[in-house]
Amino acid sequence: MNNLRLAALNEREKTVVAVGRARFGGGLVIIAGPCSVESEEQTMETAQAVKEAGADMLRGGAFKPRTSPYAFQGLGLQGLKILAKAREATGLAFVSEVLDTRDVSWVAEYADMLQIGARNMQNFSLLKEVGKLQKPVLLKRGMHSTLEEWLNCAEYIMNEGNGNVVLCERGIRSFETYTRNTLDLSAVPAAKELSHLPVITDPTHGTGKVSLIEPMSLASIAAGSDGLMVEVHRNPSEALSDKDQALTPQQFARLVQKARALERFMAEMP
Ligand code: PEP
Ligand code: MN
Repeated sequence: MNNLRLAALNEREKTVVAVGRARFGGGLVIIAGPCSVESEEQTMETAQAVKEAGADMLRGGAFKPRTSPYAFQGLGLQGLKILAKAREATGLAFVSEVLDTRDVSWVAEYADMLQIGARNMQNFSLLKEVGKLQKPVLLKRGMHSTLEEWLNCAEYIMNEGNGNVVLCERGIRSFETYTRNTLDLSAVPAAKELSHLPVITDPTHGTGKVSLIEPMSLASIAAGSDGLMVEVHRNPSEALSDKDQALTPQQFARLVQKARALERFMAEMP
């Protein structure tokens, strides 16, 4: 991949991206929260629960990329204001998705980190727009994208002057239908041997199944992931989006304990 001028490892130091108190590339960063911001109560309650369980950052969608135009599209500005309140209450910085170039500058006034979702990975106008800011960007891998395509999208952002990019493997489409996507764990060490950027995984969208989130989170850590992003809902059966893949706060708390234990074990490995 000799076309990568900025994102390639090439003997560069590994990049550490700071978001609030989280340091991507400097120890395991756990991001948790609802798929969508649905109400102030739901978001505040979930934010408190994930904070108590040991999350480093909060997530929540205010703009949702939904397969159907009739599905819940998110609360937009109101959602961002709710997330800002949750940040104030918990001290957790938050990441939220931006879908449209026209929204980038004002979404960046609220969010601590901008998410480029899988469906927009190759939206080059959007990549250039977030590249013009210094706000950290979480760049999800497109569901049909190769590593080369993914890293070139990081290059688009960096080429505009924003080096604060974190890569996120969230599963790719395969012939398998049991899982929502196929979490490509080989992409974690592969991206890390090609690039100096931190790489995290999203075992929630990567599997789409509650029972598989914990094992795939632990497998991600074993594969060298710099962090995890998982969806948590106070009452998954009532979630307005992705209810089959949301962990309860209790399930999340157990996951954090195991993830931190594995992180310590890995740190001690010769
Ligand atoms: C999300 O994280 O809310 C999301 C929509 O993920 P993806 O873009 O990976 O599907
Ligand atoms: Mn989701």
